[in-house]
Amino acid sequence: MRPASADAAFPFPSVGPRRHDPAAVAAVAQALTPLAADGLRLLVKPEECRRLSRDAYDYSPVLAARLAAAEAELVVCPVTVEQVEAVAAACAQRRVPITMRGAGTGNYGQAVPLLGGVLLTMTGLRTVRSASGDCVTAEAGCRLVAVDEVLASHGVEQRLLPSTYRTATIGGFVAGGSGGIGSMGWGFLRDPGNVLGMEIVTVEPHPRRHQLTGDAAAPLNHAYGTNGIMVALTMPTAPLHRWQELLVAVSDLDHGLALAEQLRRMALPIKELSLYDQRIAAMVRPMRGGATHDGGCRLIAVVALEALETVKTHLRRHKARLLVRRPQTVAGSLRELTWNHTTLHARANDPAWTYLQLLLPPEPAAVLRTLSRQQGDGLAWHLEAVRSGGEARWAALPLLRWNGAAALATVMETARNLGCTLFNPHVVTVEDGGLGVVDRDQVQAKRAYDPAGLLNPGKLRGWLEWEASGQGSAGPLMGG
Ligand SMILES: Cc1cc2nc3c(=O)[nH]c(=O)nc-3n(C[C@H](O)[C@H](O)[C@H](O)COP(=O)(O)OP(=O)(O)OC[C@H]3O[C@@H](n4cnc5c(N)ncnc54)[C@H](O)[C@@H]3O)c2cc1C
Repeated sequence: MRPASADAAFPFPSVGPRRHDPAAVAAVAQALTPLAADGLRLLVKPEECRRLSRDAYDYSPVLAARLAAAEAELVVCPVTVEQVEAVAAACAQRRVPITMRGAGTGNYGQAVPLLGGVLLTMTGLRTVRSASGDCVTAEAGCRLVAVDEVLASHGVEQRLLPSTYRTATIGGFVAGGSGGIGSMGWGFLRDPGNVLGMEIVTVEPHPRRHQLTGDAAAPLNHAYGTNGIMVALTMPTAPLHRWQELLVAVSDLDHGLALAEQLRRMALPIKELSLYDQRIAAMVRPMRGGATHDGGCRLIAVVALEALETVKTHLRRHKARLLVRRPQTVAGSLRELTWNHTTLHARANDPAWTYLQLLLPPEPAAVLRTLSRQQGDGLAWHLEAVRSGGEARWAALPLLRWNGAAALATVMETARNLGCTLFNPHVVTVEDGGLGVVDRDQVQAKRAYDPAGLLNPGKLRGWLEWEASGQGSAGPLMGG
């Protein structure tokens, strides 16, 4: 096979040096200072700016090397939508870039301010405006766990949660996340119907507020906060069952897959099914289920109470052992071993692990076999049951030993050649972390809601290309 080019696999925008005048940032701070009396906070200390300019990008050694120096000059923490508008106005009037931040749990440096400027932290906007059995409207800084607490009294919950549900905000999830617990039934956030609407604020000298629904909201979904400030989100709900968390020992990955395939085809409410190979089962201590490691694989399932007996019958048929069964909890939940939490736990054990994100082809056996053979001990399989384009599929977040960028690029190329869709977690632009293609609607939305290109600069490749083509009217970011 032709050796993969690491540079081509991990494109990085040439963002260059800061293009705004540092004095302009000071002027923004001065303009916003009177709002401190109403709860807005301004953080200027370099150590605070540095700490908040990070997310979980260090799971990628490629990004860790490239993003270390990026840092905001001012962090602004508003508590009302009016204050968000004031920040947008102050920055737009002085052409200072704004990078949005929720809880900063993103994996790809999404909330890292590549050009400095203002970091706008949304965790102060945390009112649940309305909730019913059908949908919820919550301010963007609400933690997902808090939204579920409100919904529980209506007998419902959010359809999709990242495994970071205890910390992550609803705005950060829609702008930066993709799916997670619930994706085996509800698909991904990008699937029409999973985000019902949003209230946004534009970045202009006189900011406007818009209510967007349906197709109008779609370009801001998973756009990393590059094309509008979301201040509230309206999301649909799902029935709240008496969920039970199961940790199951299975002899090997093939048996685990056969069991999981059977479970997901039944008429059972199951919202999470994930599989972990022997290496992960040995490495991530809570997966041992209180026992010494038995050399087997693990399956985690979250099933409704009424499904439990049927599930147990099938575990027996597949000679699988139920190690843990308990009602779903919030803290210490088995859900916090799934999705990218597996990567987190593995890296806590040994930081030499990094990871990939793949949608496997409908028949995944050849991918599992070929990559296992190619990578040997340098790869550990973690599979998640998902629904993609309406079909039951497997996503994979395999752990990979870091052997340099070229080796990682080779694995990615092999996976692609085997029919996997790759969501590259070692790049910073929306497009390169997605399907690789520019979404014209996202660029159009940026032209409408952020005409000077101030929001999260460097992260929307379509915008950079549009500017480079000479059509962009924004010109360089200037002080003043
Ligand atoms: C251990 C671990 C596990 C994870 N598991 C999952 C998972 O299961 N599923 C998943 O999808 N992701 C997962 N992630 C990624 C991340 O945790 C989620 O996507 C999370 O929802 C991000 O929320 P946040 O509040 O931390 O957003 P941030 O990380 O703060 O921001 C994410 C992006 O959204 C933008 N943004 C934030 N708020 C706004 C706003 N109000 N308006 C416009 N733009 C905004 C930011 O600029 C940034 O680009 C995981 C990450 C880690 C570290």
